Amino acid sequence: GDTIGRNLDRAVAAWPHSDALVDVPSGRRWTYAQLGDAVDDVARGLLAKGVGKGDRVGIWAVNCPEWVLVQYATARIGAIMVTINPAYRVHELAFVLDQAGIEVLVASTEFKSSDYRAMVEQVRGGCRSLTEVVYIGDPTWDALVEAGSNVPYGQLAERGAELSCDDPVNIQYTSGTTGFPKGATLSHHNILNNGYFVGELVGYTEQDRVCLPVPFYHCFGMVMGNLGATSHGACIVIPAPGFDPAATLRAVQQERCTSLYGVPTMFIAELNLPDFAGYDLSSLRTGIMAGSPCPVEVMKRVVAEMHMAEVSICYGMTETSPVSTQTRRDDDLERRTGTVGRVLPHVEVKVVGPDGVTVPRGTAGELCTRGYSVMLGYWDEPERTAEAIDAGRWMHTGDLAVMREDGYLQIVGRIKDMIIRGGENVYPREIEEFLYAHPKIADVQVVGVPDERYGEEILACVVLKDPASALTVEELGEFCRGRLAHYKVPRHLRLMDAFPMTVSGKVRKVELRESFRSM
Ligand code: ATP
Ligand code: MG
Repeated sequence: GDTIGRNLDRAVAAWPHSDALVDVPSGRRWTYAQLGDAVDDVARGLLAKGVGKGDRVGIWAVNCPEWVLVQYATARIGAIMVTINPAYRVHELAFVLDQAGIEVLVASTEFKSSDYRAMVEQVRGGCRSLTEVVYIGDPTWDALVEAGSNVPYGQLAERGAELSCDDPVNIQYTSGTTGFPKGATLSHHNILNNGYFVGELVGYTEQDRVCLPVPFYHCFGMVMGNLGATSHGACIVIPAPGFDPAATLRAVQQERCTSLYGVPTMFIAELNLPDFAGYDLSSLRTGIMAGSPCPVEVMKRVVAEMHMAEVSICYGMTETSPVSTQTRRDDDLERRTGTVGRVLPHVEVKVVGPDGVTVPRGTAGELCTRGYSVMLGYWDEPERTAEAIDAGRWMHTGDLAVMREDGYLQIVGRIKDMIIRGGENVYPREIEEFLYAHPKIADVQVVGVPDERYGEEILACVVLKDPASALTVEELGEFCRGRLAHYKVPRHLRLMDAFPMTVSGKVRKVELRESFRSM
């Protein structure tokens, strides 16, 4: 029943002197008491700018402490924070500003080759709703805080008292793995509870320090990370503005982090650092891996070489706040690698066939979820909402899953990624798992590509461990022979330096398929 603001008040009261937020690149740090004050300063600044309940405040920024302040400040005053992917360019930014009707935009100035300020200035005049832009680390940020200094605290408290936990607090865009991202509207109740339960299952206390190399704009960072940590008094540690494997491990070592998050590709990049063995990661105990399937070989190394014996696997989607299932602390390696865990408290899942009827355990079908975690809807898109959430409030995930006898769920793949070759259903994940064991292969993605004879054929996209070495499709066939059914053996091979990725670290299989067509 808490709003995010009230939940932060509780944390401040319970753990005032514990670390709440550490920014490793700048060396800045906040205790809970200091975080509460800093959030209030930004919240009063937004009130001074006239931000009302339900007004949209956009954030288009790489990971930094101000991101966290804006997250809690907007929640505190009942604004709706719209998280904008830092990989967007002008055209997508303009779309989101308009689609969500953003009035105040908080943005990074620049990062690497992205000149955010130039892009904002380019679209600013054309956006009807936008009245104010605040740049982080710029005089406009100081002016925001300064403007708030005249706003009485009583006004902040009054606004807080008007809010209900069912009010919308965020519009979070999906990763855009399968197409154009959709804006999921989520309430305080949706995401605060989800963060809380995820944190509880990982066992967070005020002793924990959580290293977050995952982007804040995505639910993995802002819900499972930020809300998961602060609802239990743990500390948020920001290793770098964007994903940087070496900076991540340095942050773990320097801040003695107990938990580390990432999608599998991030863990792969960290494990493959040439100086990996030189980092002291002995403080780690747990972490969360999610977003896409984790290869068994990677999980074994994460447990053994990164000391993350209790690492949790989570499955979910932006539309469900995000997490629906999670492994438990004492699960064995088999459950941690073969499944995405059990359903979360107060969430329901079912696996249905094409007719919508629940299939027996052990059979693949579409996963549906229901409970407090299901979003309010896609922002301003009632038709798409109605396609995703049925009359019984079940969210149709578009993922293929199997419920095992023991109540643990397996994700087989996305319905959209399933390959149908000559009438046989082929699940890319199974072939990927198999090919990871090939001595030359560092990373692999399998997709279906059009074929005249079989409808679809199997393409393996491979990143080699040693870029100077070679691999042929015949060699690959040899490796599979006798160990994989013939119709699962890749007929096409493409060697790549890297895969096209979303900012949340997922491979865009759509692009792999499209690039094959144009080859
Ligand atoms: P879009 O909906 O825009 O195409 P997306 O589905 O990747 O992008 P997210 O909401 O970030 O956007 O991701 C949710 C999806 O990620 C799930 O539907 C599922 O396919 C995949 N996923 C999440 N966790 C896991 C996991 N542990 N194992 C396998 N797949 C996962
Ligand atoms: Mg999706």
